[in-house]
Amino acid sequence: HEEKIWLKLYPKPIAKNVYYRAETLQQLLKNAAKEYPKHKAIHFMGGEMTFKKLYKKAQKLAAFLQQKGLKKGDRVAVMLPNSPQTVISFYAILLAGGIVVPTNPLYKERELHFILQDSGAKMIIALDLLYKNVQSAKVGTPLETVIFTGIKDFLPFPKNLLYPIVQKKQQGKLPAIKENQYTHFLQNILKTQVAEIIEHPVDFEEDIAIIQYTGGTTGFPKGVMLTHQNLIANTSMCRQWLYQMKKGEEKILGLMPLFHVYGMMTVMVLSVMEIYKMILLPKFDPETTLKTIHKQKPTVFPGAPTIYIGLLNHPAIAKYNLSSIKGAISGSAPLPVEIIERFQEKTGGKLVEGYGLTETSPVTHVNFLWDHKIVKGSIGVPWPGTDAAVFSEETGEKLPPGEIGELGIKGPQVMKGYWNNPKETANVLKDGWLLTGDLCYMDEKGYFYIVDRKKDTIIAGGFNIYPREVEEVLYEHPEIEEAAVVGIKDDYRGETVKAVIVLKKGSTVTEKELNQFMRQKIASFKVPRVYEFRTELPKTAIGKVLRRELKEEGNTDKK
Ligand code: AMP
Repeated sequence: HEEKIWLKLYPKPIAKNVYYRAETLQQLLKNAAKEYPKHKAIHFMGGEMTFKKLYKKAQKLAAFLQQKGLKKGDRVAVMLPNSPQTVISFYAILLAGGIVVPTNPLYKERELHFILQDSGAKMIIALDLLYKNVQSAKVGTPLETVIFTGIKDFLPFPKNLLYPIVQKKQQGKLPAIKENQYTHFLQNILKTQVAEIIEHPVDFEEDIAIIQYTGGTTGFPKGVMLTHQNLIANTSMCRQWLYQMKKGEEKILGLMPLFHVYGMMTVMVLSVMEIYKMILLPKFDPETTLKTIHKQKPTVFPGAPTIYIGLLNHPAIAKYNLSSIKGAISGSAPLPVEIIERFQEKTGGKLVEGYGLTETSPVTHVNFLWDHKIVKGSIGVPWPGTDAAVFSEETGEKLPPGEIGELGIKGPQVMKGYWNNPKETANVLKDGWLLTGDLCYMDEKGYFYIVDRKKDTIIAGGFNIYPREVEEVLYEHPEIEEAAVVGIKDDYRGETVKAVIVLKKGSTVTEKELNQFMRQKIASFKVPRVYEFRTELPKTAIGKVLRRELKEEGNTDKK
């Protein structure tokens, strides 16, 4: 029995073990609709929906999915910005016995195509403005049924708020979509009567609820399989950690994308488990966010460093009352220490840093909101029921406090594995420990500190970018001989994409032309912001590009 020194820090109300009932995610919604039917579940652009209504709509969509042939374990992709439809789709797919495959609405055809193909999704629920993307991405995939929805299906809303999230080109150019046996409108599905749903028995520990695509530790997109237990356990840990919050009384700001497990757990699942109202915003716009906080008074605010920095730097912040916020959790990238202080000064609410990854549903560590001083620069301590250890990169042995090694996690939130990828799964799951690919150390008290990322994934503004994928697109350019992509430090996005390029002899292609080429091919957040031209790339003896070297040079160049 090893001593878990951070447990000494837990205040009494935070139990050392995690407590939860072995209930499915869809059961949470059923309970909420039964016990709190009139309680508001969602606020969106001035409109509201109760838990009862949310459940009814999810039931209608679930019945439709089954009518279209959805069987237990079938995958259904979702490609929506944060909106009531995202929540309805999530619970409907689960009610019908399916597996949710969330995708980023900013993805271009090739990215969506990969996910559809790899997951084998038979159905997709997508924003109508993404019609063209979906139509071309589905070619050669098992996709059979497409359900489109527009925000106007639900509530009157200012168009300009939602539409900038999709590419400029697609704005306002919605082709007339015709309903047929493949293409359907969510609006019409939800007009029907609630029909019978076949309820499949669920194995709480084994059955997959979602497959979330991520770069994982090696940089190529892989589907992380998260079970009902994974998500219920992580949400229950969150509930224990937020022990001063009251069931049925809190409001949570739903700004983080619900298509990533961070937003999914902290907003979509927590609020249904704890009967919080989710205040959804489809994209991050500092002014709208400030206004929303001022008017809607959320008490819980999960976010990422870029979001807090964006808000604090807004010139009109003093105009708004932000004092409703009791707790804000920052995850997904390192949080600059000064931001913690400025946030507290401006809002009166606490901002704490946490840590996690898709493979852990996602949270493993957080600072305490109450009872202890926030340890700045630390990701905090492991959550209830979560074990963490630092493993030597050389020997694989557990290391004592103060020594740097790879962070390993054990707990009920650790994924089942990568979808159809036992080899990659075996690389990261060893003896029940998930190796995170992040280098860290623990201090004498039990607080953890992230030092660097072992893996190459670039995280810019909270979005993951996989160098290999960007490189592959660069290589498609006829005048590029070699290319390597690295993340370099960026004051605003945390990291930004840099491409180091060797051009073919005699080529005269310019940075501007390359940039235009890239913009046509991949989502703009992945397009390199910095280009450097060289005559050769630094490589190891066996010809591997020395990414780390390029990265270090990129960062020193900036200074
Ligand atoms: P994702 O799988 O998209 O959730 O990305 C997970 C990765 O984000 C982790 O493996 C870390 O490298 C990084 N990350 C998350 N939170 C933090 C943090 N507080 N500080 C530094 N890196 C973080």
